[in-house]
Amino acid sequence: AAWEKVEAKEERIMVSVRVRPLNGRESGDSSDWECISPTTVMFRSTVPDRAMFPTAYTYDRVFGPNCSTRQVYEEGAKEVALSVVSGINSSIFAYGQTSSGKTYTMTGITEYSVMDIYDYIEKREFMLKFSAIEIYNEAVRDLLSHDTTPLRLLDDPEKGTTVEKLTEETLRDKDHLRDLLGMCEAQREIGETALNEASSRSHQILRLTIESSVKQYLGRGKSSTLVSCVNFVDLAGSERASQTASAGMRLKEGSHINRSLLTLGKVVRQLSKGRNGHIPYRDSKLTRILQSSLGGNARTAIVCTMSPARTHIEQSRNTLLFATCAK
Ligand code: ADP
Ligand code: MG
Repeated sequence: AAWEKVEAKEERIMVSVRVRPLNGRESGDSSDWECISPTTVMFRSTVPDRAMFPTAYTYDRVFGPNCSTRQVYEEGAKEVALSVVSGINSSIFAYGQTSSGKTYTMTGITEYSVMDIYDYIEKREFMLKFSAIEIYNEAVRDLLSHDTTPLRLLDDPEKGTTVEKLTEETLRDKDHLRDLLGMCEAQREIGETALNEASSRSHQILRLTIESSVKQYLGRGKSSTLVSCVNFVDLAGSERASQTASAGMRLKEGSHINRSLLTLGKVVRQLSKGRNGHIPYRDSKLTRILQSSLGGNARTAIVCTMSPARTHIEQSRNTLLFATCAK
């Protein structure tokens, strides 16, 4: 076949950290964070008495306030996103507290990735399909449909977990894709307004599926179409999984804690340690849906976003701890 499933050479999760610029509301604030190298972010408090555990944090890449989203994409996500054209499933996540820059970062990464994939496949015999969902309080909603009825998950022996009745658009061209991305954004906003909630509580997964029109011969008269996908995941605010919340409050589904986010944390920590033992994919909708694009032969990139402001120090530290555990 022109296109073969290839073994991913490393299973390690690519982890990067992006520190956004101080915004208007934080302008009187000061930043305690400095990116001292392309891989290390340093905590340098000007308040001397703080008892600090490790002051330098090292990841695959760190991006300071002056880095563009293009750069974050090129160095922190592109390789993983484009593995889909080699038949490898992949997922790219934005993780961080609300207002740290997840949506800003993931929107750009999605756009750049999809355009690159488009350019690559335009010359070949592939078909691109697009679908989009939101997970809110463990309810799955189709972002390409005006129907807000929660969708069920089905377990398919061959495809794994699928979302029942999910809209899947076959892409005609780049403009078609831009329209669909616009529709997702609008649908997400409508949902937020209706529920009087911010995106801080929901996860958005945009999925691009590549289907090769070349049939792979499986022997004995059987053949199959090669299919692989890349997922762009804009996660709920990480304050929804904070240690203090899980320790100090009762675990009340949906109000303080986000089950999918907590489970993702567990899954990612397990995967980063190697593949032994039970990985709790089935404990949440997010991880069930992404199971075939996490671990195993799949590639994963996580961009952890954080505010540089001192007021957010606790959440920033939690985000860096998550990033460290994911490596
Ligand atoms: P989140 O999705 O994590 O809640 P957003 O992506 O909505 O956060 O970002 C919050 C605000 O900060 C938005 O107004 C966004 O445009 C701005 N912002 C985020 N990251 C950056 C950045 N790297 N450079 C400039 N502005 C940013
Ligand atoms: Mg957001």
